[in-house]
Amino acid sequence: MPIFEYKCKKCGHKTDFLEKAGSNKKHICEKCGGNEMQRLFSTFSVGSSSKSSGNDSCPTGTCPLS
Ligand SMILES: [Zn+2]
Repeated sequence: MPIFEYKCKKCGHKTDFLEKAGSNKKHICEKCGGNEMQRLFSTFSVGSSSKSSGNDSCPTGTCPLS
């Protein structure tokens, strides 16, 4: 199960949550109790994106699929 990092929109507190991919579960900020936690990009997907290619026409891997 991947770990997602969430940031509270209210106070900016960051927390990691272990969560199933695609889950829409709401999280509560443990610091201020705010219920607007914004999911940040997980370090896993960022780190592996450069390796997983399958799209040779895009050297950087960031080009949108056409
Ligand atoms: Zn907060």
